[in-house]
Amino acid sequence: MGLRILDRVINSMDISAPKFQVYSLNNFLKIPQVERYLSKEQIRNIQTVGNVLPFKVNNYVIDELIDWENVPNDPIFKLTFPQVEMLSKPHYSKMESALMQELPRAELKKVANDIRLELNPHPAGQKSNIPELDGDKLTGIQHKYRETLLFFPSNSQTCHAYCTFCFRWPQFVGMDELKFAMKETDLLVKYLQRNPEVTDVLFTGGDPMIMKTNKFEQYINPLLESEIPNLQTIRIGSKALGYWPYRFITDNDADDMLRLFERVTKSGKQLAFMAHFNNVQELRTPAVERAMQRIIDTGAVIRTQSPIMNHINNSAEDWAQMWRKQVKLGAIPYYMFMARDTGAQDYFAVSIEEAWNVFKSAYNQVSGIARTVRGPSMSAAPGKVQILGINEINGEKVMVLRFLQGRNPDWVARPFFAKYNPEAIWLDDLEPFGDEEHFFFEKEYAEMPFV
Ligand SMILES: *Cc1c(COP(=O)(O)O)cnc(C)c1O
Ligand code: SF4
Repeated sequence: MGLRILDRVINSMDISAPKFQVYSLNNFLKIPQVERYLSKEQIRNIQTVGNVLPFKVNNYVIDELIDWENVPNDPIFKLTFPQVEMLSKPHYSKMESALMQELPRAELKKVANDIRLELNPHPAGQKSNIPELDGDKLTGIQHKYRETLLFFPSNSQTCHAYCTFCFRWPQFVGMDELKFAMKETDLLVKYLQRNPEVTDVLFTGGDPMIMKTNKFEQYINPLLESEIPNLQTIRIGSKALGYWPYRFITDNDADDMLRLFERVTKSGKQLAFMAHFNNVQELRTPAVERAMQRIIDTGAVIRTQSPIMNHINNSAEDWAQMWRKQVKLGAIPYYMFMARDTGAQDYFAVSIEEAWNVFKSAYNQVSGIARTVRGPSMSAAPGKVQILGINEINGEKVMVLRFLQGRNPDWVARPFFAKYNPEAIWLDDLEPFGDEEHFFFEKEYAEMPFV
């Protein structure tokens, strides 16, 4: 049945594919719009910052997403092209002078790495929570929250284009090669069988949809073929709908990927496609609309998430438009995140107070169907902490928070209070309200293993 539905979609295809072209630091001068729209200074800024932070973009982003008449203010331009303000002045000068001296490659790399190490490359204890199985460390798995296992296939440690805010950036610039990667799907299966509390596996990366279908299948098939009754949902965290929707329409193996999705849903497992969209511009092309329709036709569910970022989407209007359009296209708004404390965070950071104002005002103007979204949420080391709001207790301003996910599940859903701090951009900047010295979870958290 499902296959027939898919065939209908395939047969009604009227979208022609551009040839995939990828650009990075080495060849971005060949992008026609770069020559036409950017000044020499802007180009030099890209070269300087792009030597430190990852830079990769493709012709879909360039030709269909970026509004070049609006460059340099276009949000997708700022999302994908390195911006001068992303480095501090001292870091910028350091890289600039290294480039001017035409240092040999290895020395340039060292200068870049020294700067990178000062940009908090491993926020929120990402190196922790590595589980073990019969004495083997499962370096491709992260098991932080009881029900959900993060899986980093070794073949998906890259993306179709790079977001300038990405917290996975160390691995894209070669600092952390395959730190999390793991090939051994049989270990994954064994781990799931031995940990019946896990209901969800989340494939992440990079972007797992960068893989050819026949590679991705090698991870999925064992999950479908093995006896893992606890496994309910296979999630795929991907930005491919934003950066290369042709992955699901016209790529050689697009139909194969959709058939694989359909095999998952027909097996009785949920396929949750966790789509990462940052701006409504990514939801307006015929290609993305068609790609979403095709994914949904396989029986998969699309849920959406994004950080809130200065220069990219820091207005209630942006978010309300995004959520409305997502719902219209059949997706379910899921998370609004705070920008992580890594890389170019100073450039993108929005204060907790501002993020909550944006959230509140966007949430207020959409129908209940779009209010499935939760946020703003900080993915901090102890858990995902949502800002419920700002109010007053006995005339004193207070920030109200709660865990959406916690290292200890008992922490979840219990409101707690922080002193009002209009400058705070992250959990670390907050202090408990009242006389308490520590938040309720801090002592227990400090005593947890792998911290
Ligand atoms: C967000 C996240 C998950 C998934 O959490 P849900 O709230 O179920 O979407 C799992 N593991 C880690 C480490 C996460 O950050
Ligand atoms: S798509 Fe995701 S993993 Fe890839 S660069 Fe963007 S934020 Fe990072």
